[in-house]
Amino acid sequence: MIDPFDRTISYLRVSVTDRCDFRCVYCMSEDMNFLPKAEILTLEELDRLASAFIGMGVKKLRLTGGEPLVRRNIVWLFKALGRHLTTGALEELTLTTNGSQLARFAGDLKEAGVKRVNVSLDTLDAAKFKAITRWGRFEQVMSGIEAAKQAGLQVKINAVALKGVNDGEFDRLIGWCGEEGFDLTLIEVMPMGDMGAASRVDQYLPLSLVRADLGKRWTLDESDYRTGGPARYYTVRETGRRLGMITPMTHNFCESCNRVRLTCTGTLFMCLGQEDAADLRAPLRAAESDAPVEAAIRAAIARKPKGHDFVIDRRHDRPSVSRHMNVTGG
Ligand code: SAM
Ligand code: SF4
Repeated sequence: MIDPFDRTISYLRVSVTDRCDFRCVYCMSEDMNFLPKAEILTLEELDRLASAFIGMGVKKLRLTGGEPLVRRNIVWLFKALGRHLTTGALEELTLTTNGSQLARFAGDLKEAGVKRVNVSLDTLDAAKFKAITRWGRFEQVMSGIEAAKQAGLQVKINAVALKGVNDGEFDRLIGWCGEEGFDLTLIEVMPMGDMGAASRVDQYLPLSLVRADLGKRWTLDESDYRTGGPARYYTVRETGRRLGMITPMTHNFCESCNRVRLTCTGTLFMCLGQEDAADLRAPLRAAESDAPVEAAIRAAIARKPKGHDFVIDRRHDRPSVSRHMNVTGG
């Protein structure tokens, strides 16, 4: 699949549910309305759709959410999709999780062929963790991370940089990741969805500032490692681990974008930062053959936009896109 800007699309992210057992302050408001269950594709339909993408050239698949591990019977989907690893059609099957259910599922995930897992953890301070996630339990997540490590999964920690909240903690996170053998990626907050009282301007911390500050204490060697996403990577010389910075706000890397995002209702978003989307559920259900859905995917890729238009400043203190991050899973 090649889009109008000559970018090869080889990476699909699937949000398998919009529901979550946390209510992180930058992702959701406290009283969220979730999709009615009837709107949501079955696991078999998600398997069929994802498999159609794999047949069309997707090599890397990430399940996300909401919280992917709260969807009932999700291990079935991982195991079903794992068959494409066995045939070699798929190179990587992975997930992004808040870690709350990892203690239960780490072994099953490993068995399904998952090798790496991204765990979102913004702080090592239990009280701050509670304040950020509202409903999360720090100890549960730490046990989940430990279980993933014990199961032989490679762990990468994702932390959203939040002004006045975890900006004093990056040294500690870098040090801890170094000790544990984890890579770490810092993420700039993106203006997605209404956050209730919280203002994006108050949350937003440009990573250019963080990078400059970290450079005073850590030796950050620029790395040419790329994943086709909006991240820049460094190697922290003192720990030997990778430090990524996802900077959609201060620097965007849309020109090398290789991904599209599917929601649990079968809606395909060609860009995280744009409203345009394509419905794949109707063509999926229209026929037993995959021909209609493949045609719809091709038509969607043909209108993948050049890039996002995220803005965060005082004059634009409203979401750049109306949906919350849990719809597409980041
Ligand atoms: N529940 C899982 C988790 O938290 O890892 C997967 C879904 S979550 C939406 C995926 C990632 O998006 C997490 O790392 C989260 O921190 C990040 N995220 C959520 N809202 C965001 C926002 N407004 N700006 C930047 N990152 C955000
Ligand atoms: Fe849930 Fe992940 Fe959003 Fe937090 S970031 S509310 S864990 S979906």
